[in-house]
Amino acid sequence: IFAGISRPASQRGNGGSKGRKIAKGTFQSLGLSKDVFAGINRMGYKLPTPVQRKSLPEALAGKDVVCMARTGSGKTAAFLIPVLEKLQSHSPRVGARALILSPTRELAMQTIKFAKGLSHFTDLRVALLVGGDSMDDQFEALSRNPDIIIGTPGRVMHHLQEVPDFSLAAVQMAVFDEADRLFEMGFAEQIKEILRTMPEERQTLLYSATLPKMLAQFARAGLQDPQLIRLDTES
Ligand code: ADP
Ligand code: MG
Repeated sequence: IFAGISRPASQRGNGGSKGRKIAKGTFQSLGLSKDVFAGINRMGYKLPTPVQRKSLPEALAGKDVVCMARTGSGKTAAFLIPVLEKLQSHSPRVGARALILSPTRELAMQTIKFAKGLSHFTDLRVALLVGGDSMDDQFEALSRNPDIIIGTPGRVMHHLQEVPDFSLAAVQMAVFDEADRLFEMGFAEQIKEILRTMPEERQTLLYSATLPKMLAQFARAGLQDPQLIRLDTES
């Protein structure tokens, strides 16, 4: 089903120390841009966690990724770093270029907190679309042309249906966080509808603690030649 893990991301020469040898398996070895690397430092992350070490090169290389690792293993930064690295800087008027779907409002709020921390040195804008917040606040957030939207499927779908100007047609990167829970909670149909509104030539990243059959089937249908990274057997 899944292709094997292949070549690492090419070195882009940033975030490393001048002229000195860069140790493998470090954030420096990933060739990140200066601003994203500074955000990682600001968060106090010294070394990538095992799941980050395995998945970051694949995601940074633009591949679709299915990543399965236990709770607490650092999956949030594993998808936020490639999102920030791909988008780089604020781009007005084109529409959001990344969508991160979370199963719950609480998780989405935690993710936006990490996103704001990691993107501190960039000018990227992030908006939250979750149930329970007022639609007015969310219109306000959307009017600032966010580059990244973090939301729950229900509220994102609601915006797609009710807000004429709201579109995901510029999304280059789609992330499913806690994908097993997204599917357990019955969001499958909404997710498929949301996916249909996004360009096909996007990068899709899926993170989960478990990989039930339904999720594996979804990944096969919705992702392109995904790299499967699993740390469940090693932890
Ligand atoms: P998961 O989504 O896999 O359950 P999280 O992304 O919530 O895990 O991360 C768990 C904790 O680990 C968070 O407090 C996060 O800030 C921290 N963390 C993530 N990456 C690193 C890292 N490279 N070094 C140190 N701490 C990290
Ligand atoms: Mg998580």
